[in-house]
Amino acid sequence: MTDIKKIKSLLEIEKKRLLEELDQLNADGRPSEERREGSPFGKREEEATESLELEKRLAMEQRIKEQLTANDDAVRKIDSGTYGTCESCGKHIEPARLEILPTARRCMNCKALQAKNAKSR
Ligand SMILES: [Zn+2]
Repeated sequence: MTDIKKIKSLLEIEKKRLLEELDQLNADGRPSEERREGSPFGKREEEATESLELEKRLAMEQRIKEQLTANDDAVRKIDSGTYGTCESCGKHIEPARLEILPTARRCMNCKALQAKNAKSR
């Protein structure tokens, strides 16, 4: 039996953590005002580093937003009473799995199948 209350509080904590992470990311994301002068390559190198950093940050932001969406979906499912059902086979997702990963959309079997298919692609 899945402890929905526990799951929901886990999701709330996780959401708070994700939002903080997003804030942190945006705070770190301010463009640096200090630029290295001198070496003719220094600036270009730094710009390359900055765009790489920006790319990394965007990827991280994307990942956090996806997690937030998954989190919201899970909360919505709890509210509508469909939480804990595998999206692929419709069976109940193992409660132990949900406790570790409250935003899980698929049961262990389907997840394993999906991973296998992704690998063979
Ligand atoms: Zn399944």
